Amino acid sequence: MAFAAHLAVLTALIWAATTALYFAGGFAIRAYARRHPERKIQVRADGEARARAEIMESLRSIAITSFCMALAICLSLFGWTLWSPMEGWLGVAIGAAILIVGYDLYYYWAHRLLHTKRFVRFHRWHHQSRAPTVWSTDSQSPVETLMIQSWMIWAVVFLPIPPLALVAHRLYDHFNGQLGHCGYEFFADRSTRAPSPLVCTTYHDQHHELYSWNYGNFTSIWDRLHGTLHPDYDRLVKAREATAPPAPAE
Ligand SMILES: [Zn+2]
Ligand SMILES: [Zn+2]
Repeated sequence: MAFAAHLAVLTALIWAATTALYFAGGFAIRAYARRHPERKIQVRADGEARARAEIMESLRSIAITSFCMALAICLSLFGWTLWSPMEGWLGVAIGAAILIVGYDLYYYWAHRLLHTKRFVRFHRWHHQSRAPTVWSTDSQSPVETLMIQSWMIWAVVFLPIPPLALVAHRLYDHFNGQLGHCGYEFFADRSTRAPSPLVCTTYHDQHHELYSWNYGNFTSIWDRLHGTLHPDYDRLVKAREATAPPAPAE
């Protein structure tokens, strides 16, 4: 089968799988969160009012993400990369770690770029959600999605990343995004505030509510280094961790 046919079939399959995950994860997280109204971050906001518009935009943006991932896999399968991919399960694990750590840095700067005068028009749609929900994570303009998700293409071309590592990275990115936008805080504890580099849902929720802080994705490392972490983030996490009732073991 020619390259273009591989690319088309794979794009369609990845789109179907990602869309299924988007709805399954979205409904499951939302159902769980609604049983814990005390965990809501922006108490008075109703992010769900934009659900329909966000879902429609997400279906298009997931198609672009799927195309980027399919193109990266096809380039690897056809050997159109600078290096042969690392082999074995260890190669997959190392590849996934490189993708996740590298993407954290790539995302920080791509996101800073999206907040500049020249590029902000591509980022406005995502920021129309002042109070994000599970449907917000993929609700981005086509240009923004291409800028962010083309990371998979660059990584595969310039680094020895095996295709399965792309799958692991994408799954992590997907669920991290949906939980990070869900609007309810279930992860505030010592592991998500200084000195830990990890973050909880409050981190990206603050970005939507307050706009000019917290540009990172998986960690707060780059924000801390560049002075763009919201000054109240650590204090807020500590307060939420102290006041939140323990999550029921159900
Ligand atoms: Zn932003
Ligand atoms: Zn967001």
